[in-house]
Amino acid sequence: MKILVVGSGGREHALVWKIAQSKKADKIYCAPGNAGISELAECVDIKAMDFQALADFAEKNAIDLTVIGPDDPLVAGIVDVFEERGLRVFGPRKNAAILEGSKAFSKDLMKKYDIPTAAYEVFNNAKDAISYLETADYPIVLKADGLALGKGVLICNTKEDAIEGVKELMTDKAFGNAGDTIVVEEFLTGKEASVLSFVDGKTIKLMASARDYKRAKDNDEGLNTGGMGNISPNPYYTKEVDEFCKKYIYQKTVDAMAAEGREFKGVIFFGLMLTEKGPKVLEFNARFGDPETQVVLPRMENDIVDVFEACIDGTLDSVDLKFRDEAAVCVILASDGYPEKYEKGKEITGLENFADRNDCFCFHAGTKISDGKILTNGGRVLGITALGKTPEEARENAYKATEYVAFSNKYMRHDIGLTNR
Ligand code: AMP
Repeated sequence: MKILVVGSGGREHALVWKIAQSKKADKIYCAPGNAGISELAECVDIKAMDFQALADFAEKNAIDLTVIGPDDPLVAGIVDVFEERGLRVFGPRKNAAILEGSKAFSKDLMKKYDIPTAAYEVFNNAKDAISYLETADYPIVLKADGLALGKGVLICNTKEDAIEGVKELMTDKAFGNAGDTIVVEEFLTGKEASVLSFVDGKTIKLMASARDYKRAKDNDEGLNTGGMGNISPNPYYTKEVDEFCKKYIYQKTVDAMAAEGREFKGVIFFGLMLTEKGPKVLEFNARFGDPETQVVLPRMENDIVDVFEACIDGTLDSVDLKFRDEAAVCVILASDGYPEKYEKGKEITGLENFADRNDCFCFHAGTKISDGKILTNGGRVLGITALGKTPEEARENAYKATEYVAFSNKYMRHDIGLTNR
């Protein structure tokens, strides 16, 4: 088969890496890809939002399957464009990707179908939001309705902060139209867990759980980022939590989407808060998480192309999804200063140390090739993943592997995978 992956980050590198192990994959393309991906796939210089050019490419090159990585093209309807042209594609249609594309939609869905989530109100204008905030309890959470690069969530400790937040989102439009509508939500406390799943419209099969480290600095300090690392399995995702979520969250979400005429095919990512009163959904994503994918796929035993096809064909019930017993830890190597100001274009050395390893992997997030050298080209640069028999061993192996590569403004957290916090 000829397979095209759309996207250019660490998630797409992990996807390409996993697809390359498939018996079915003869040739892989990636649009636009990055320096690491180009070792496994032919990179094509087409942007993820240029749907017609991507579909033209798929038609001209007789692509058998296209896999969409990022949220923006999914939410904007890339799958519908491919399907209209008779092209086989993995991912939810626009009417289902709204599960991620609109937080107001997903909250209303959860309320209607009684799926546990934080109490909330939706506002379409700043005046009503502010008057609600006058008598609300604090802390409180404000969320831009639409996609905001993972940055549209504000946790406000005081009324003053919250009013300022409403102005930022709705009046100053910090995230453009994404903040025209906002969700104001009860603040939840607990440990967070990320759970990825494959869905074929009716059946849901869960991948391994993961824990994400979103803050830039050790001890969960500093600004929110796209993610500074991960561990899988999530140490707090117990059997009881799993049973609760299977009963009250996962299948109910798939059934709710189907009942709304929004059949979901693809990956649903459940962002959960494990509260004292049980697990609650913080958010849904309609795609693989980044960097969760970098810890989950190395543990997956199945041929991923078989699973993609089963989701498209509605035969996921016949797939026995299997994950290795080992733990995986991913440490993100970022450019110092991320997520604020940082420099790019630094030469990366030592990447050859990962050649032919099957215990540790280097997934490229923000890199490019220039004059035969590999340079940093983003805030998050590389994701270093390692496996281990125990979480401690995986963590040790991952941090050892971070030493294999060097670039001048290399920055990482040092507490990824520590279980005592
Ligand atoms: P989201 O994009 O909705 O997952 O939010 C991003 C992050 O904000 C989450 O991973 C949580 O750390 C935090 N967050 C979101 N909603 C809440 C909430 N209701 N209570 C506490 N923290 C939250």
